[in-house]
Amino acid sequence: MTRSFDQLWPLAFRYAAMHSPYYREVFHSQKGIPALKTIPPCDKSTLSARNLDFLCVSPERVIEIVTTSGTTGQPLLWMLTEADLRRLAVNEKLSFECAGLTARDTVLVAVAMDRCFMAGAAYWLGLREIGCAVVRTGATSPLLVLEMIQRVQPTAIVGVPSFLRIVADKAREAGMDLRHSPVKKLICIGEPIRDAAFGLNHSGATLESVWGAKVYSTYGVTELANSLCECEAGQGGHLHDEQLHLEILDDAGQPVSDGEVGEVVATTFGVEAMPVIRYRTGDCAALFRGHCKCGRTTPRLGPIVGRKNQKLKFKGTSLFPSALTAVLEEADQVESFVVIARKESELSDSVEVLIHGAAPIAGLREAMQARTKIAPQIRVATREEIESLQLPAQARKRRTFVDLR
Ligand SMILES: [Zn+2]
Repeated sequence: MTRSFDQLWPLAFRYAAMHSPYYREVFHSQKGIPALKTIPPCDKSTLSARNLDFLCVSPERVIEIVTTSGTTGQPLLWMLTEADLRRLAVNEKLSFECAGLTARDTVLVAVAMDRCFMAGAAYWLGLREIGCAVVRTGATSPLLVLEMIQRVQPTAIVGVPSFLRIVADKAREAGMDLRHSPVKKLICIGEPIRDAAFGLNHSGATLESVWGAKVYSTYGVTELANSLCECEAGQGGHLHDEQLHLEILDDAGQPVSDGEVGEVVATTFGVEAMPVIRYRTGDCAALFRGHCKCGRTTPRLGPIVGRKNQKLKFKGTSLFPSALTAVLEEADQVESFVVIARKESELSDSVEVLIHGAAPIAGLREAMQARTKIAPQIRVATREEIESLQLPAQARKRRTFVDLR
């Protein structure tokens, strides 16, 4: 039997207020069950400052410890009990079922299983729960992925879009046409494959064409031990509302209307080790409550349009850097680029774009103006200058947006 928010919220509240040192403190004078919306949200800085004060169980009940990025330079520790791993398995099963996976599928997991990440283990658990055959290639060797595609004939791959594009490049170099491979579904994590209107972005369209496969976006957050995956309709990731409650809030902390972009704020249900209440993820997206073509009635989370702290301000309007980078990704003759934001005043930021390639600057500025209403300064730079900005020393990820504000 399914349980409603009105049944789940009091359970989540009482559990956290009783077992979590952090929430015991926050709720010590609370009488009765408060309305969720009256509880002050917490964010990553709270999680960083009070990390293990969120732990609700004794250490011997913890069976899995992973990390997630923090705000202090040191990753946060995130812990799970046996029941939490079961919950995670059920969550990923529901997510993969949205993408239509069944026990008949053979699925290649091109995601790291190690380095303290939760994601790889979560996918493995969910695919096991469905009964798929799982091949864990990881994401370090495109050649291993190609070899296993030939040897085990997988029907789906779970991976990061940029890595799946690298695999496709290696296949082309080796004279292998992936469109003739049995891989028909690419479950994409970590990077957007759609724009805010659900159309495929450059990355998503490229993947569908070179792989001859359908792309599905899945969005997960370690601190929520949860993911939301698109169905065939590609109209947002379906929420599993017995495990998670989502709100979308504006800059003032007020709920926005259906379909409007704001910050994703989440409350977990059924988590034993480290539940969170009104956690500000820092990710911005819209929630859609209408019925989906697939028949599911659960809310859907639209594409992540950016991080809240990356939002740019321009003379009264605001936009996410992803709107600018999307234009550059689609442009011909732009080999590499980086978008740099600087603070001009309290009310406005300035943006400079460095590009490497033969694209005419006037045309790029026009395309940006048409799509985003912003025409930033564009300068041609050397490949080396752009790379040094994209990948500074000690960075884990290549970036196309540099925030100097
Ligand atoms: Zn659907």
